[in-house]
Amino acid sequence: MMNQKEAAHAGGQAPALDVKDLVVEYRTHHATVQAVNHVDLEIPSGKALGLVGETGAGKTTIGLAIMRLLQEPPAAVREGSIVFRGEELRSLSEKEMQQVRGSQISMIFQDPMTSLNPVMTVEKQIAESIRHHEDVTQEEALQKAREMLSMVGIPVERGSEYQHQFSGGMKQRVMIAIALACRPELLIADEPTTALDVTIQAQVLEKIKELRNRYGTSMLMITHDLGVIAEVCDEVSVIYAGHIVEHGTLEDIFENCLHPYTQGLFDSLPNLEDRKAKLKPISGLMPDPTCLPEGCAFWDRCPYARGICKMKKPARAYCDDGHHYVECHLYEDGKITKSEVKDVG
Ligand code: SF4
Repeated sequence: MMNQKEAAHAGGQAPALDVKDLVVEYRTHHATVQAVNHVDLEIPSGKALGLVGETGAGKTTIGLAIMRLLQEPPAAVREGSIVFRGEELRSLSEKEMQQVRGSQISMIFQDPMTSLNPVMTVEKQIAESIRHHEDVTQEEALQKAREMLSMVGIPVERGSEYQHQFSGGMKQRVMIAIALACRPELLIADEPTTALDVTIQAQVLEKIKELRNRYGTSMLMITHDLGVIAEVCDEVSVIYAGHIVEHGTLEDIFENCLHPYTQGLFDSLPNLEDRKAKLKPISGLMPDPTCLPEGCAFWDRCPYARGICKMKKPARAYCDDGHHYVECHLYEDGKITKSEVKDVG
């Protein structure tokens, strides 16, 4: 029987991005860091996928691998495919990839301070990106840049200022304007609000959501923050030690999560209904990526670990909807019914 994804493909709905079995390592003289280990990600056209996990789980490496911006060496994409609009990005030449970056796939980085050019006015930076991909005059590009500034809520007259004259939230809005200036089909946002204070975070997320809806842009939202995921995503992939351990719709993950690590992420959030309740952080640390365990990478932090967990990697098990999946020995008998889930949690 076909699962939901296979059925969607058969029905002609090709995903915007389809990453399969991606393996990325960083090699040094002393060790090999296994940063991304057989990752599968799929972003349905026009949808937003949240990639959530702790710092060091391999999230940014995946974003950079899709953009082909990893510094090789020390990085090396060892296996897997990255298909965008039916085209394998790994087979493109650097020149062809330059045409994809910015115009078809854009990325917003965590820290706008290090992403903007300090000696160029912000409108010129947006215009430069437009001219790189579109056959327009400097004046036309500047006109478009000003439209983008106003779209992200920055007064047009401030376009002739430099990045040091802007607050953190405004700089990130400029980054969003640059990323969306050429109407990319896929936006990769890597912790875009982490460097901002809470009120500005909400404004920036709102702006990303509004512009995505307007242009129908697909998105990969990389974050450690479940609040950000709840705000902007349709689907969620949970990553641990460079591997996706659970995937489902926003509702699946927020209302019926299966993997003990996902449960741990939710348990470590503050409980707004019980302000005296203590936080329950996940004990321990992620395994050393230069020496990952043979079995489940979460075994020494997992309250449900059994003997087999240390020895053998769990296989993927799908829920009866054919879409929500988990990789954990607690569910290894194959198909999971939603009633089983409650016994485990
Ligand atoms: Fe825990 Fe075992 Fe499941 Fe890993 S496979 S998450 S150790 S129960």
